[in-house]
Amino acid sequence: MRRERSLSAWRQACSVSPGGVHSPVRAFSSVGGDPVFIASAGGCRLTDLDGNRLVDFCMSWGPLILGHAHPDVVRAVQAAAARGLSYGACHHAEAELCEAILAGFPGFQRVRLTSSGTEAVMTALRLARAATGRSLVLKFDGGYHGHSDALLVRAGSGLATSGIASSLGVPDAVAATTLVVPFDDIAALQAVFAARGREIACVIIEPIPANNGLLLPRPGYLQAIRELCDAHGALLLFDEVISGFRFRYGGVAPLVGVEPDLVTLGKIVGGGMPVGAVAGPARLLDQLAPLGRVYQAGTLSGNPVSVAAGLATLAVLRDGAVYAELERLGARLEARATSSEVPWLRFVRMGSVIWPWFSGEAPPHRADGIDDAAIRRFIALHASMLERGFYLPPSGHEVWFLSTAHDEADVDALALALVEDARALAARESA
Ligand code: PMP
Repeated sequence: MRRERSLSAWRQACSVSPGGVHSPVRAFSSVGGDPVFIASAGGCRLTDLDGNRLVDFCMSWGPLILGHAHPDVVRAVQAAAARGLSYGACHHAEAELCEAILAGFPGFQRVRLTSSGTEAVMTALRLARAATGRSLVLKFDGGYHGHSDALLVRAGSGLATSGIASSLGVPDAVAATTLVVPFDDIAALQAVFAARGREIACVIIEPIPANNGLLLPRPGYLQAIRELCDAHGALLLFDEVISGFRFRYGGVAPLVGVEPDLVTLGKIVGGGMPVGAVAGPARLLDQLAPLGRVYQAGTLSGNPVSVAAGLATLAVLRDGAVYAELERLGARLEARATSSEVPWLRFVRMGSVIWPWFSGEAPPHRADGIDDAAIRRFIALHASMLERGFYLPPSGHEVWFLSTAHDEADVDALALALVEDARALAARESA
């Protein structure tokens, strides 16, 4: 596969932008090699600058559940753009999008729109702190919730639970406002609540953690978190930037059997345009300005073009048949790719979210259980899949996404290619 044009675009990008990218994972640092530059996309296919066609299993990291440039979404965006790109004033479609979101969250009455998931999470945390009058936030090690200061923290050593900044430029004082505990460890949670429960404003968790592999929680784990929050007066925030509208129309509460107090959204509700959202009960959300004293704002929040893309996407998803079809495709990919003689060619999957877990070990429930051998195998297969025309997310810690634009032939082709290349890799490993 020739990629000269991508390479020269990459050199130019590196001369004007840090690392040539505008979000770090795009640089391919986790897999080696040079990033592919995209010229256009439609359905489940990307076309790169050199004219190569690639079947996309990254799908812009989750928003494109209907595929690239879905005709309904493009039509809605074009019509909205023709009516003006931004008003900085109220328009009717904002309330329509909020209603469409709330239809998926029957317990909630309010939505505030932002321009990114990061902003939605920042807003939700501020709200939780204001509502409880407490200052600490508890997150899980390896969980990603956007790039705000308070959440770029990791667990410290030993029994210390105060976060350590995981990025330069995050003040220690800010990192110390976030407590970090390992996933899948109820005793650690109980201990931190016993020690500091009265200071904890909220617990933030992805109910289906999909940012460090796919770390499906064991039964009872989310219930235990809910109970601890209730016992100590802390709020429970489900960060559903990925999971929202991905597995069903709405949030995952009915699937996991636990109700959160607040939910953050992004990705799918913006249909591929920049959107984030905080959803929750009126008693909490109405504390935001202008009604309340919790400040939050955004020049482009509720942007008419983004809102149009979100509305068009949710209109298609409202027909629940989409989810059954995505489950069927996901199951097919998994079955076809794992029925090989390579025992480590395995996946952790929920519906259309698939994580390559290329290991003979049982799937991990926490970030520090992800084994190096699995990641090394992923790196090898990432390169060979790209050569064959499959665009996988360029990191072994990232999940793959299917969309309604993928069909049986697309997943069968990927499965077959994976099996062949895994077989060759296994033979090299044992040589
Ligand atoms: N929360 C979660 C769970 C996410 O997956 C992401 C992005 N991948 C974010 C927050 C941040 O969203 P954004 O990139 O839109 O700021």
